[in-house]
Amino acid sequence: MQLILLGPPGAGKGTQASFLEQEHGLAKLSTGDMLRAEVKSGSELGQELQEVMSSGKLVDDSLMISLIRERIAKPDCERGFILDGFPRTLAQAEALTTMLEEVDRRLQHVIELKVDDEALVERISGRYSCAKCGEGYHDSFKLPKQDGVCDKCGSTEFSRRADDNAETVASRLDAYHAQTEPLVAYYRDLGILASVDGMAEMDEVQRQINGIIL
Ligand code: AMP
Repeated sequence: MQLILLGPPGAGKGTQASFLEQEHGLAKLSTGDMLRAEVKSGSELGQELQEVMSSGKLVDDSLMISLIRERIAKPDCERGFILDGFPRTLAQAEALTTMLEEVDRRLQHVIELKVDDEALVERISGRYSCAKCGEGYHDSFKLPKQDGVCDKCGSTEFSRRADDNAETVASRLDAYHAQTEPLVAYYRDLGILASVDGMAEMDEVQRQINGIIL
């Protein structure tokens, strides 16, 4: 099964993609995570990416398309995958349709997570994650059970994304509305779009997604 989770930054795509990965054995492909790993490597490309990402703008289509083309050819994608953060432009969506056709695969569902812009700013500015295992937390909605200790792996180190600050969030939302939102109509026309209420509790969103894909 091939799925896309579509929605603005902070809509909960990463959280829901992790649930789907654990529950259904699908590979989670987060382009944001892939790009952050490149930035962390300190490569020349990583330095260029960091500049674009900290401005809240989108990375070049051709780079993103080749990144995904290589990634979906890996063995862990054989059973299927969930795309989190890709495609983000019409050019990326069209390239994805073509590259899947080439390997005789297709998308089953594109699930749009609908969330109000005002809620997104609050969600994004409070989020952080465990520096070791990546488990996500939030200043208002999800604190570790024991103060300063990761529930999942016991680490005491946490980190915040450099682009999760008020100015960058505003331009990431602008980029979403201008460049990514048109994909809702693109996938609706292909007959594979379903929308869920991303403002609902995490478990409820998960239930709604399972109702669509099962
Ligand atoms: P995310 O973790 O999905 O919020 O992505 C963080 C940043 O990485 C975005 O603000 C973009 O600068 C960049 N990025 C991630 N995925 C894409 C994509 N599919 N196309 C272009 N830029 C991307």
